[in-house]
Amino acid sequence: MKRTKIVATLGPASSTAAVLEEMIKAGMDVCRINFSHGAYDNVLSQINTIRELNKKLGTHTAILADLQGPKLRIGTVENNSVELISGKEIYITTTECTGTAERVYITYPQFPKDVKAGENILIDDGKLLLKVVETNGKDEVKAIVMHGGILSSKKGVNLPNTKISLPCLTEKDIKDLEFALTQKVDWIGLSFVRSAADIIELKYLIQNFDHTVKTKVVAKIEKPEAILDIDNIIKETDAIMVARGDLGVEVPMQEVPVIQKMLVRKCLEASKPVIIATQMMESMITNISPSRAEVNDVANSVMDGADAVMLSGETSVGNHPAKVVEAMTKIIEHVESKVDIYNRDNAAPEVDLHNNRFISDSICYTAAKMAQRTKASAIVTMSHSGYTAFKLASHRPKANIYVFTDNYSILTTLNLVWGVHGFFYDKNISTDHTIADIKLILKNKGCVKQNDLIINIASTPISEKGKSNMIKLSAIE
Ligand code: PGA
Ligand code: MN
Repeated sequence: MKRTKIVATLGPASSTAAVLEEMIKAGMDVCRINFSHGAYDNVLSQINTIRELNKKLGTHTAILADLQGPKLRIGTVENNSVELISGKEIYITTTECTGTAERVYITYPQFPKDVKAGENILIDDGKLLLKVVETNGKDEVKAIVMHGGILSSKKGVNLPNTKISLPCLTEKDIKDLEFALTQKVDWIGLSFVRSAADIIELKYLIQNFDHTVKTKVVAKIEKPEAILDIDNIIKETDAIMVARGDLGVEVPMQEVPVIQKMLVRKCLEASKPVIIATQMMESMITNISPSRAEVNDVANSVMDGADAVMLSGETSVGNHPAKVVEAMTKIIEHVESKVDIYNRDNAAPEVDLHNNRFISDSICYTAAKMAQRTKASAIVTMSHSGYTAFKLASHRPKANIYVFTDNYSILTTLNLVWGVHGFFYDKNISTDHTIADIKLILKNKGCVKQNDLIINIASTPISEKGKSNMIKLSAIE
């Protein structure tokens, strides 16, 4: 079983149950639903299909609803294609119109107020570059084309130098969020996060929507401001995504690999999952195998210590949605079998009895160390909140991490997390009984075999469902 998880974006190429089943069998762990596209009835049918497949296959495929955030776009343009010529002037207006080479519409009403002369305007992933000449501060900005080319309708716009006054959650995002929460998705992704305050606001909305919904948050890191506030963002969020598509336009592209490594390291230290996203297997949108550089990219992300690697167009609109997952799985499995990516030397938790997580953090840390020393084949945790699974995974033990929980939604939520495999279990007799029972279940499922060492962590007495406070090392009979 591979440890590094695969997130795949759904779209027209991956909407039928048959294709989704192939993708799950090929190693997809999380489905990403991109709210930039897709009508609610489509999304609903995708969610239902995934949940039916989970029942049929006994899997825990997670659902990540990705909110668009303050994504800026150009409006439609004449014939869906106009040529912008380097050196020419162009007006960008906030009054809706069909775009021409002289005048285009932008979906950002405050644009003329926020922008300043000399700032860059990047269009279509940076393929076109304009520079602001002047703004009337009201409804129109004059710019000069620095790098021209063909502009088609509704292309994305990045303003790396501009302080954008739009809220992180647009009206559309709030509607999409309510829809996603009603469907009890596992994870909400937020695009263009600029500061920890954006995450606090999103969490506040989730909390207020329904106290019983425990949906967790992925902060997409794709703005230079987010890098500046990264420690606070990691503190507030439940996971992050290295969203290299927009990030590579918003910061100089050569900075992205170093930022990726920095983000993975910080997330591991904070026990927060980290997803590496965008263009990982891009050429497989059409080809049947990835480029050598793409194979290296996926392999290196696994070696960096990512929890998950992500597919976007490859699975949403590509020709080979299941094949690309299969190829990714092969790369991951090979690296995990040949390279010592295990046993990260995360600092031991500081002795602090006022920290109410100190005891369970110490148990997780020690369990990982014990697994390393004894070559135990599994660490098993009983968890209602999933907390210990996140903690254990961040130590990257070579032992498999099995979570037994009576909280079904935790099983799907944890499917994003490195090395974690979950089982539903709701018997509640005694710690001794449960440990014996679980060993039998794992043996019968072929997860462990006779004479394997296994480490159990649990909370005693079990009936209180408290924080983990005990650790047991034993052999499978
Ligand atoms: P997107 O996010 O695909 O929603 O733009 C990922 C990225 O920017 O890399
Ligand atoms: Mn993006």
